[in-house]
Amino acid sequence: MKLVIAKSAGFCFGVKRAINKAFEVAKADSNVFTLGPIIHSPQVIEALAAQGVCVARDIAELKRANAKKVIIRTHGISLEDMSRLQQEGFEVMDLTCPYVKKAQHYAKLLKEEGYQVVILGDIEHPEVIGLKSYAGKDAWVVKDAEGLPKEIKSKVGLIVQTTQPIEALKRLISKIVEQTRQMKVYNTICSSTAQRLKETEEVAQGADVMLVVGGRNSANTTQLARLCEHLSVPTYHIETASELKDEWFRGARKTGLTAGASTPDWIIEGVIKVLKEMGGCNDNGN
Ligand code: SF4
Repeated sequence: MKLVIAKSAGFCFGVKRAINKAFEVAKADSNVFTLGPIIHSPQVIEALAAQGVCVARDIAELKRANAKKVIIRTHGISLEDMSRLQQEGFEVMDLTCPYVKKAQHYAKLLKEEGYQVVILGDIEHPEVIGLKSYAGKDAWVVKDAEGLPKEIKSKVGLIVQTTQPIEALKRLISKIVEQTRQMKVYNTICSSTAQRLKETEEVAQGADVMLVVGGRNSANTTQLARLCEHLSVPTYHIETASELKDEWFRGARKTGLTAGASTPDWIIEGVIKVLKEMGGCNDNGN
């Protein structure tokens, strides 16, 4: 069985930067917490907790734990939470991904310029909760073009959750443009997400089975799994190698593997190791 691994599988730039810094802080400091999980990978959260950096669900929990330093996750937090942290005197280490920061900046700018801000994304995702706080209380969050209110204002400003697919943005733009005279769009989709989706599609197109590795709570990993299923390739979304089953690969000549932006290399390597024990080999025969 041949293994084809997407080149972009695993940590993106923003996650790599945040996780490296968090582990550095874990070594140098004590009483450090992250406000919410730093990334959507239960295994990385566990590894950080083993080094003394635990997750606090909210500011009240940080206070109860007498936290000293607070790490802000890659998805960012709301403006209100950021100012409360500062008022409460916590030492803040902001590891929000620079691409998410850019989206927050555009959300604020659109609001200040008087646009009705529309955010394309998942209303419950921490990144979108943060973006909405910058876009103002009147901002709309829609998960697709169908989610738009019937009455659209004459001046609409659009931003996107960084991990949304470009097709969803195109559909939303064409729906809004039918109903408004003035529209400003900031395409805040992260290029690493677009690249990962493109490579995953290429790998899946030639595969008999697809493995998607990453947290079940990770939006971008789940999106990769959905894409593979949409291409009608038998797809398995796993978090670690321990979930692999022999029967998934019976008769498969080619197995494709991709992983979300929050999946560490050591988990991907663990999966590849077990696949090789099951008879898998790379292009070079290894
Ligand atoms: S997927 Fe993109 S926006 Fe999200 S953390 Fe990674 S680099 Fe940043």
